[in-house]
Amino acid sequence: MDDSLISALADSSERVEIRDAVRAICNRFDDHYWREKDENAIFPFEFSAAIAEAGWLGITMPPEYGGAGLGVTEAAIMMQTIGSSAGTFAACSTVHINIFGPHAIVVHGSDAQRRRMLPSLIKGETRSCFGVTEPDAGLDTTKLKTRAVRDGDRYLVNGRKIWTSTAQQADKILLLARTTPIEECKRPTDGLSLFYTDLDRRHVEVREIHKMGRAAVDSNALFIDNLPIPVEDRIGEEGAGFKYILDSLNPERILNAAEAIGIGRRALAKAANYANERVVFGRPIGKNQSIQHPLAESWAALYAAELMTLRAAALYDAGKPCGAEANAAKFLAADAAFEACDRAVRTHGGMGYASEYNVERYFREAVVTRLGPVSRELILCYLAERVLGLPKSY
Ligand SMILES: Cc1cc2nc3c(=O)[nH]c(=O)nc-3n(C[C@H](O)[C@H](O)[C@H](O)COP(=O)(O)OP(=O)(O)OC[C@H]3O[C@@H](n4cnc5c(N)ncnc54)[C@H](O)[C@@H]3O)c2cc1C
Repeated sequence: MDDSLISALADSSERVEIRDAVRAICNRFDDHYWREKDENAIFPFEFSAAIAEAGWLGITMPPEYGGAGLGVTEAAIMMQTIGSSAGTFAACSTVHINIFGPHAIVVHGSDAQRRRMLPSLIKGETRSCFGVTEPDAGLDTTKLKTRAVRDGDRYLVNGRKIWTSTAQQADKILLLARTTPIEECKRPTDGLSLFYTDLDRRHVEVREIHKMGRAAVDSNALFIDNLPIPVEDRIGEEGAGFKYILDSLNPERILNAAEAIGIGRRALAKAANYANERVVFGRPIGKNQSIQHPLAESWAALYAAELMTLRAAALYDAGKPCGAEANAAKFLAADAAFEACDRAVRTHGGMGYASEYNVERYFREAVVTRLGPVSRELILCYLAERVLGLPKSY
């Protein structure tokens, strides 16, 4: 793939090195590898191990625990590179939780917790999943119903989670649960607590959800029945969990944006390639403007989204507010990726629908970038309220 189709973010020699090193690993896992994982819904253990062995899981983690201590900008370059590989979103989801998930532990955990929890996550020896979404709360996170009730030096947890990715493989879970009933709280955002604990299958039934795409990386419904969590597995203060999750939302949106841009760029490169090769009516289909223009438009849209992502990442790394930029980046990137994948399928004509050409897989994976972890609608609600000063609508 041409460099301009990979990353404009990688503008310094250190960033080019990150991109090239990550790309070299990704290139060992081609479309054939990922198509097989997707068709058989098999977790990409080999890819995951290769990324972990090269030390990339600790890219933003503190050096004293084995990380590289780099910023969200560098992590975005890494995730965009992974997104533009043959594994697209499945490849990103394999490692995503390790990159942003432990952020709450880094910032709000005690020294003892950081020493106990971070090194094995960074080495890839421990796999964690992220349990926030619930079937009856949806995007209204403060309404989540999973309850953690204090019982001496432990909590007992009961409830349900949904869409918990990688829970089939995970040994640990970063779990948000209500410790004080919402009626007893001053604000709905109070009374939620964050835990990083064993995913003890004697108390948690993990049921896989059959889904449209990204089959290689499982998503699950969790049924939690009297899960005991030692008090020392609570991160930070009781009742402050929502605030801790909010801290990591902006970096997560930035990484999601970068991942989506990667997917879009890969689909676009495949489309351009096919448009040059496929001859119909005695000329390459790419000679028709109806094929060229949508692809050119996607190139521009992906580049614009990338610049917004870079801006958001630079603000975050400088310790400045970046909520509007991070949300806008995620919105623009997901839409641009979706369009690019749709256009890649259409450029391939009937072959766009055939698994063999892979663009249908990229398309299926791009769909989810517009749904989660925050939907495009909720991003627009946020921008309308926080940037334009319009009344809160949700
Ligand atoms: C493949 C996949 C992997 C995931 N992995 C994880 C994971 O690992 N951990 C985890 O915790 N979660 C995970 N999720 C969950 C994901 O973050 C949620 O699906 C997402 O937050 C949306 O929540 P919901 O599905 O409950 O949608 P709902 O809240 O039910 O919303 C449905 C629709 O209504 C719209 N809507 C709702 N309220 C409003 C409003 N006030 N104004 C305008 N529009 C509104 C939404 O934008 C959306 O379009 C995953 C989801 C998927 C699909």
